[in-house]
Amino acid sequence: MEAKYDFERKYREQILQCSRCGFCQAVCPVYGVTLRPSYNARGKMLLLKEVMDGKIDLCDELIESLFQCTTCASCTENCPSGVKVPEIIKQARKDMVHIGSCHPAFKGMHEVLEKNTNIYAEDEPPDFDRERNKKADYVYFIGCVGAYREDESTESTLDLLDKLGVNYTLIDEVCCSGVLEDVGYKINDRLAKQNIDRILATGAKTVITGCPYCFRTFNNKPQYGELREKGVKVIHLSQLVKDFDLGVKTDKRVTYHDPCDLGRHCGIYEEPRKTIQKIAPDFVELYHHHANALCCGAGGGVRGAFAKNSLAMARRRLEEVEEVGAEIVLTECNSCVHNLANAKLRKQKFKIYNTTQFVNELIEAKKG
Ligand code: SF4
Ligand code: SF4
Repeated sequence: MEAKYDFERKYREQILQCSRCGFCQAVCPVYGVTLRPSYNARGKMLLLKEVMDGKIDLCDELIESLFQCTTCASCTENCPSGVKVPEIIKQARKDMVHIGSCHPAFKGMHEVLEKNTNIYAEDEPPDFDRERNKKADYVYFIGCVGAYREDESTESTLDLLDKLGVNYTLIDEVCCSGVLEDVGYKINDRLAKQNIDRILATGAKTVITGCPYCFRTFNNKPQYGELREKGVKVIHLSQLVKDFDLGVKTDKRVTYHDPCDLGRHCGIYEEPRKTIQKIAPDFVELYHHHANALCCGAGGGVRGAFAKNSLAMARRRLEEVEEVGAEIVLTECNSCVHNLANAKLRKQKFKIYNTTQFVNELIEAKKG
């Protein structure tokens, strides 16, 4: 039978490789809060197999399952058959968008980025009291969440970069638009080109991203290939900060939440820990960590489309923080900070920070 959809053309073998073993069930954050078997990786693969067999069609009824996936890749990490679930889901979403079946929130994200320069449709980007678009060794690329929702954390990060003597500039950045790839659309070429041109105009040979998702997008997506061709390297903030002597310590018990986009998707686990272990002798790992880290529930468009479940996923992660008795939880992603902070447990005693914000606060406290 001729394939009807692109997901089938590209991933038929992968979907058939799913042996229905169910190893993915225990690690799927969506299943963890819904307890619905049709929402975990196995359920999603079974639904797509039914579509391939012509038993059901892609339609609005599949939105709840196929669009409710944070693309955290926890299933893939634990799958003995090597099924690349997030890639399959993203393609199936594209096929659904193509036939007019899409979660309204995902459609909204696409429309916002057609007309605006950021995912929140805000008018003016905050300037953080810093000159932009100047010649520098580095560009610091903030990302939408850091610029518009976690601006306090970004201010601290910029203060820290200043203290460390990093020669950087901000640019008039626009959304990297990588999120569109997750929600059934394509990266916006116009936005990508604006970012590329503004980065190149600074003469910087390295871009530092505060956001793991921007990091992934710049490094992997063909729309940003010109940066690579012109010799511009893109690093994550944690890869820069790890090499500095920070000169501060905390006696508080500290733990670390691995962002899915930085850890499982980019393999960056040790750089953030290197910094944290310098400043926090009482460091403790969460029960799920490194490649087994539990997702905060924000990714894959889920925070926008399924807010209640997204926060419930974050609460599960916060419960792990409580279990190890940490007073501080650090992470390397503004989106994770945002979702974890919004979830908040009852009688929560610990605080959530981006590592750079916390380091900056320690330096400020030492200065008195
Ligand atoms: S772990 Fe892999 S093979 Fe097993 S059910 Fe999940 S997706 Fe299928
Ligand atoms: S990518 Fe994450 S949320 Fe999606 S099915 Fe796999 S484990 Fe579940």
